[in-house]
Amino acid sequence: MDQSLSSDRLHSDLLPAADAALDDAAPEPRSFLDRLFDRGLLIRTGVDGLYGRSGAFESVVEALDRLVSRIGGADGAEALRFPPGMARSSFERSGYLKGFPHLAGTVHSFCGNEADHARLLACLDAGEDWTAKQAATDIVLTPAACYPLYPVAAARGRLPADGLLFDLQSYCFRHEPSLEPTRMQLFRMREYVRMGTPEQVLAFRELWLARGTKMMSDLGLPLAIDPANDPFFGRAGKMLANNQRAQALKFELNVPVNSEDKPTACLSFNYHQDHFGTTWGIEQGDGSVAHTACVGFGLERITLALLRHHGLDLDAWPADVRAQLFG
Ligand code: ATP
Ligand code: ZN
Ligand code: MG
Repeated sequence: MDQSLSSDRLHSDLLPAADAALDDAAPEPRSFLDRLFDRGLLIRTGVDGLYGRSGAFESVVEALDRLVSRIGGADGAEALRFPPGMARSSFERSGYLKGFPHLAGTVHSFCGNEADHARLLACLDAGEDWTAKQAATDIVLTPAACYPLYPVAAARGRLPADGLLFDLQSYCFRHEPSLEPTRMQLFRMREYVRMGTPEQVLAFRELWLARGTKMMSDLGLPLAIDPANDPFFGRAGKMLANNQRAQALKFELNVPVNSEDKPTACLSFNYHQDHFGTTWGIEQGDGSVAHTACVGFGLERITLALLRHHGLDLDAWPADVRAQLFG
């Protein structure tokens, strides 16, 4: 973390008045989330981490999506878009439930008869659990934009000599309700995914570490690149997390958004080694198992970082930032 960051870099609009702490009668300072609600940038649904977005908020998300496309545009990535649900069979095979059972979201539907329907409505009226006749469907919610891609790539057969590069964007679900606006349950992740030799995918990750850093600092955001780990579940998960850090498999680009002490991962740079290649049988041209890496952009998180640092009024953002996004 860059220790030179100081709170005066955060936009004053969002900081409590300097004398508020001294005055017992002063109202509690509004949280960042409340200020976003007050301005209508995010819209309450009654569920933590599940929000509507205003047109202004969306205009930033869309501008960031375009900016990422401009930066990566010359690389010739193949664009694919999947809906925010994926095949349950693929999800089961992916290994997600080994690492992150606590984050997964499944789609269940009513599968009963008319008598079951009557019971459902009676339960609903009585305020009782009505979900007994819900059964798992063939669809689960996508946990990361790249998850639906691997089986598709594997089905195409061996990789060409220079590997493959994909451009993805999806709403993703993670069951991690929070009052931090940066930790949503449904959010959009833009990704580039590289498949090939270890050298090819590591070069891709280096390239995006540099590009991502330049993109975010050009947007006037203070940042630091830090080693990171995924939030693997349970005691065995601790070892997986330690291993991921020891092998430098994951880096995050962190920006102070909710606080200076706990900055927020806005981009992540992940080297999966042969994990997905082995899981899905993705082969290089010579038949050896493919390595993969991805760079993920949290579109809501970057939007929130911009709002935090440049203020809640988009029209008042620095001209050069507006030019990069909306020019
Ligand atoms: P964190 O450590 O903060 O939970 P993560 O390691 O789970 O982040 P990744 O799995 O690498 O994040 O996801 C890629 C990107 O998606 C992140 O860099 C972030 O910008 C975004 N992201 C992840 N989780 C959320 C969330 N709950 N709400 C909004 N954006 C998210
Ligand atoms: Zn990914
Ligand atoms: Mg997480």
